[in-house]
Amino acid sequence: MSPSIADNIARVRVQIQTACQAAGRAADSVQLLAVSKTWGPESVRQAHATGQTAFGENYIQEAVDKITTLRDLPLVWHCIGPIQSNKTRLVAEHFDWVHSVDRLKIAQRLSEQRPEHLTPLQVCIQVNVDGGETKSGVSPQDLPALAQAVANLPRLQLRGLMTIPEPAETEAQMRTVHHQAKDLFEQLRAQGLPLDTLSMGMSADMAAAIAEGSTMVRVGTAIFGQR
Ligand SMILES: *Cc1c(COP(=O)(O)O)cnc(C)c1O
Repeated sequence: MSPSIADNIARVRVQIQTACQAAGRAADSVQLLAVSKTWGPESVRQAHATGQTAFGENYIQEAVDKITTLRDLPLVWHCIGPIQSNKTRLVAEHFDWVHSVDRLKIAQRLSEQRPEHLTPLQVCIQVNVDGGETKSGVSPQDLPALAQAVANLPRLQLRGLMTIPEPAETEAQMRTVHHQAKDLFEQLRAQGLPLDTLSMGMSADMAAAIAEGSTMVRVGTAIFGQR
């Protein structure tokens, strides 16, 4: 029998604990975001039954259907995929968090469209630390101005940064990129932005990301299986 979602989550949680211990960090300093894209509501229910409440989604319409179906559960939904202008309203109305803000225009629309009866949308800015050409994310040079502007939008709460590094060959290479992201994060904090979230690390680079200061790892395949 293949391992269940519950088995997989238990194993990933142990991996997070082990990485925290190795880094001299408290076990509760890193949150697990279960990336449920392409998986149906039943898979999310199975994950929730283990105590998992934070879920990440990439495809807006698919996510909105799932969020609506699962309204009976107290889940926290994170948008981690690219957002086009014509999708900002759906995101603002249905998600709790967005990790993939990389342009002021998108942030402004999200703020304008966030319904009054909901708490502010929690936001991370996606930063393209290693300059991967095909990737979204603001450049490190443009990050400080964007962060200040996003922090001033009334219906958004800027929480931190998100990165998706290019696949690297060695642990050392992975850690270099994660370290740069952590530096950018600390620079913004030093400028007075009260950031507490560094969303970095996926199934393959989780330990390296935790060693360099990640506070949220985004794990899909290792929990739900191959997409
Ligand atoms: C799909 C995805 C993940 C999860 O990746 P896995 O390799 O399945 O763990 C994490 N972050 C982002 C932005 C993703 O798109």
